[in-house]
Amino acid sequence: MSNAEPRPENIGDLDFFTRQIMAPNGFAFMWVYKPLCPACGKARLKKPKKTAKFYACEACKKEFEKPEYNKLLAYNIEYTCPACGKKGLIHGEWEKPGTKTSKVMVKFECEHCGEKNTIYRMSKLKKKKKK
Ligand SMILES: [Zn+2]
Ligand SMILES: [Zn+2]
Repeated sequence: MSNAEPRPENIGDLDFFTRQIMAPNGFAFMWVYKPLCPACGKARLKKPKKTAKFYACEACKKEFEKPEYNKLLAYNIEYTCPACGKKGLIHGEWEKPGTKTSKVMVKFECEHCGEKNTIYRMSKLKKKKKK
């Protein structure tokens, strides 16, 4: 059972995503949406400028500090478990790593066999060119 959010159509709606191999033969696709505004629910929270220290709703213009924003983040992971080979899709609250140097992005248990899997920050992300 899963209440995961739909696969992303627009990378711009995402706070974070990664696709990676979980050795030896597992696979994971993780995506985290920029959260919907808790005040109006009409738009996602985004930084008004790249350098901004806060996030704002594009609909109601309410502003949120980074800690508030981070509390709203939730991960979705579509995976093939490297231990049992089964596929799964899970959803949960995401504790965003506090520093850019932290390598572990999230740990999760396979819903079939309970294997503890880890998703890492990739050293080089191939960014899709949009626009
Ligand atoms: Zn709003
Ligand atoms: Zn498993």
